Amino acid sequence: MSFGPPRQLKKAARVILVGAPGVGKGTQTERLLDKFPQLASISSGDLLRENVRDKTQLGLKVESAIQSGNLVPDSTILDLISSEFKSRGWLLNNGSVSPTASFILDGFPRTAAQAASLDALIPVNFVVQLLTPPSVILSRIASRWIHEPSGRVYNTTFHAPKVPYKDDVTGEPLTQRKDDSIDTWKQRLQKFEDTSKTLLQHYDAKGVLWRVEGNTSDEITPKLFAEIEKRFC
Ligand code: AMP
Repeated sequence: MSFGPPRQLKKAARVILVGAPGVGKGTQTERLLDKFPQLASISSGDLLRENVRDKTQLGLKVESAIQSGNLVPDSTILDLISSEFKSRGWLLNNGSVSPTASFILDGFPRTAAQAASLDALIPVNFVVQLLTPPSVILSRIASRWIHEPSGRVYNTTFHAPKVPYKDDVTGEPLTQRKDDSIDTWKQRLQKFEDTSKTLLQHYDAKGVLWRVEGNTSDEITPKLFAEIEKRFC
């Protein structure tokens, strides 16, 4: 699927994608990065999994929460995010924000409390709520395979690798994420329902919330691109 040539942003875009686990936040993020090269992304889940894989102190602390589908404590995730902001040069040591910092946050903030903390660090100006029916998400989760070293994601129903269970680029084996079991998924979905309501209200009240619906990522992407072009190009 092609979504046209890259576009320049005229205004800094500080974007958050909000959606149930499995809704395709990662896919949209990848496509946004291709389309709008000034954007960079931070995925809180990826940062956490990196820490777990590298067995850092933080990783050891959060491993069981991630595996059981619980959220990790706000203070932990905030430390992780703010040090990532700093290391990318978006947040300066005196607390000011780089005027050119354009980014997508994936998976953070997940709660109204996290959103309030983020407002104090770097305010976002576009919050996208991705809406897909839960039954569609469930079947997608069950057929999702990833190439862990690169983060490339496949789906055996609509985005199958050329060779079954092998990465297209390296030929290495694909795996299913440890937290992809159905029980874990159900717990995560429930948590998402519980916490996202106030998160979305928080951003709605600030006038930066925008909703987009679709059964597939391909349906959502063109609508999302058009809205970003309208607001930031
Ligand atoms: P994700 O890849 O975004 O689905 O995140 C995977 C797991 O990392 C989640 O199930 C949580 O345990 C943890 N996690 C990621 N982001 C956050 C966050 N913003 N707050 C708390 N926990 C998080």
